[in-house]
Amino acid sequence: MFDAVLIEKGDQGSRASLTTLEEDRLPPGDVTLRVAWSTLNYKDALAITGKGPVVRSFPMVPGIDLAGIVEQSDNPGYKPGDKVVLNGWGVGETHWGGLAGKARLKGDWLVPLQSPFTLRQAMAIGTAGYTAMLCVMALERHGVTPDAGEVLVTGAAGGVGSVAVALLAKLGYRVVAMTGRREEADYLTTLGAGEVIDRGDYTQPGKPLARERWAGAVDVVGGQVLANICAAMRYRGTVAACGLAGGMALPATVAPFILRGVTLAGIDSVMCPRAERLEAWRRLASDLDPGKLDALTREVPLADVIPTTDLLMAGQVRGRIIVPVN
Ligand code: NDP
Repeated sequence: MFDAVLIEKGDQGSRASLTTLEEDRLPPGDVTLRVAWSTLNYKDALAITGKGPVVRSFPMVPGIDLAGIVEQSDNPGYKPGDKVVLNGWGVGETHWGGLAGKARLKGDWLVPLQSPFTLRQAMAIGTAGYTAMLCVMALERHGVTPDAGEVLVTGAAGGVGSVAVALLAKLGYRVVAMTGRREEADYLTTLGAGEVIDRGDYTQPGKPLARERWAGAVDVVGGQVLANICAAMRYRGTVAACGLAGGMALPATVAPFILRGVTLAGIDSVMCPRAERLEAWRRLASDLDPGKLDALTREVPLADVIPTTDLLMAGQVRGRIIVPVN
């Protein structure tokens, strides 16, 4: 028996509850593991509140991240006792996820715990931090170097944003953090932001081309904010776009792309190939100051996960939430 958050479908839509499950209810898979830590991401909040079409089959254990210890394995890559991490691959959407005491899944989705991280630290990073690293790697691939100019991070006080600020600052970029919460300015400065700006102006419709400011950008907001960022990119700058916290639409023109050679680089962590995942985790080990992780992490017990999702949906959570499961 193990504790789990379970989302079930009823006449009135989906409903999440904390429950106890037996191991024989676990879905098929070649590796069974004890989940030590999971996390709470924006996507998990969408799944648990039912506010976004994240869950594709019911009943579903949410949780797009987990870190744990292998108990049983028919996969040649893993044996009992191995410490492993999982991010994405549809876990928490189409396959039972990490917000439960046990998980059974495809071993090919797992990555070994990256030294020197603990299981707890790996979840403090989680999908948000690994996605932030993928964004930074995309900027690098497109030639955005620290001497190219200022790099903007939106949704900076959230999970992806916080880790992106810390990573870019450690790599020597001048980071400008954009937030809707001015009260988080000290927090963002501690993470390494050189300047903190309000989201306000960027939420209003702007011109097709604005004053060139950003050499690079990591955007989690989408919508009008992303359109205005594209318009304010410097010649041949790159925006790594990974989120939709401010909306799915993109009310932009092609002007920045065809007149300034701007690149809009899409980032997907869920189906990202294994080699790039491993590279992202290696880079996190070398480029993320573990001391900064403590400042951006908060623990929420499994029993409090469901009420905490409302705070996440309201944009009131700072940094990362980790969930001690076992
Ligand atoms: P968080 O909830 O931790 O952070 C989101 C941040 O976005 C908030 O802290 C806030 O920033 C800002 N925000 C919230 N609501 C709005 C709004 N209505 N308008 C503008 N900004 C808003 O989420 P995560 O960091 O976990 O995820 C951020 C986004 O990235 C989500 O859309 C998520 O789905 C996406 N994502 C995508 C991945 C991918 O593979 N492509 C992987 C991981 C996340 P502030 O507090 O600074 O105001």
